[in-house]
Amino acid sequence: MHVCTGCSCLCDDVEVELEDGVISRVYNACRRGAGIFLNLNSSRASPSIDGEQVELERALEKAQELIQGSENLVIYGLDTTTLEAQKLAIELAEKKEAFIDDNSTFCLGDFVEMILKKEVPSTTLEEVKDNAYVIFYWGTDPYHSLSRHLSKYTYYPRGANRQRGYEEDRFLVVVDVRKTHTAKLAKKNARFLKAGNDEEIIRGFIDALEGRSPKIFQKDIPRILKEMEKGKFNVIFGGLGLKYGLNGNYDLFKEMIERMNEKSEVYFLPAGCHPNMRGFNELLFEKTGHVNRYSFREKRSSDDFAFHRLLESDSVDTALIVGSDPLNSLPLEYAKKLAETNTIVVDPRETFTGRIAKVVLPSAISGVESGGTMVGADGTRIELKQVFEKEINDEYILKKLLEVV
Ligand code: SF4
Repeated sequence: MHVCTGCSCLCDDVEVELEDGVISRVYNACRRGAGIFLNLNSSRASPSIDGEQVELERALEKAQELIQGSENLVIYGLDTTTLEAQKLAIELAEKKEAFIDDNSTFCLGDFVEMILKKEVPSTTLEEVKDNAYVIFYWGTDPYHSLSRHLSKYTYYPRGANRQRGYEEDRFLVVVDVRKTHTAKLAKKNARFLKAGNDEEIIRGFIDALEGRSPKIFQKDIPRILKEMEKGKFNVIFGGLGLKYGLNGNYDLFKEMIERMNEKSEVYFLPAGCHPNMRGFNELLFEKTGHVNRYSFREKRSSDDFAFHRLLESDSVDTALIVGSDPLNSLPLEYAKKLAETNTIVVDPRETFTGRIAKVVLPSAISGVESGGTMVGADGTRIELKQVFEKEINDEYILKKLLEVV
């Protein structure tokens, strides 16, 4: 069995079949997950300096030179690599008094921080499978973004204390701005709340919990709360829609969860997609008390230290980007900024960012060509079991870069 590193579910039941040393079939993974194994050899990165292909040793030396000469370094990405490599990246950032940031700044880092600070109770997917009755998907469409979330971990599987199948033993609540594919599943024993304003829905729940009639969803909200009391163990999965809907004002949401917990157990979990984002957040949190956007020189976290803000303010001379392709997601103006920076890309595959990088260092695909540990979105640590062994992986490269600081 292998672990798929396609998303933060980290499914650990993937089987692969080899034919003449090549992966020919993949079992149990979803389409995205299977693609990681089956397309192992497509679009692989090559070592390069200024776009010219060179020997790996030469590219490594150049990267070492850039790191050594850098006065304002940022390390970014890291969510697709292992804990072991993330630790080395954090060590490098500390030694260089650098900035460090990951995708969680744009993604669900705020939710992970709430959980790590114990501001909301959280649980594991295994507990959800065994016990959860009311399952909220709030601002997330796992049907597309986390393909096996519903089928393997939450709504559909029978759990130790949920043996009667989803039509009787689960109650699905989908809160979203549109009728997503996940929302379309909300038929029997389910509710779809069309979110115009997340805060209004949260106030609706708080009103109902305090015995007042909610201003919206006057029938649905009291019914959902009744089901939650009946179910005893309930979970809310929050996605990007919820994060952007709340726009940084999390207090009311936390209050709602606290109030809900006076009636039944209610847990909160992020529903996000980067495989080891939570691992990075946890490591940085253990070291600094913050999950992202951190400056080791100033010893604090700030919005100003988010990767795109650092580019915007010309605060960095060198960017080390590991397992991420910011040019693919950031607006075009950042491409120019990044092209003016000494950018080092460490990635198994060709990326847009790699095209404008000073140095590209190709590495192994975590979980397929290298082992290590990752942390799923629910905080569960999982050991990867590689199919092949590639010596030059993220850990190897980061150790080489650490040698010169
Ligand atoms: S749900 Fe995620 S971890 Fe599971 S097989 Fe699909 S991509 Fe891989």
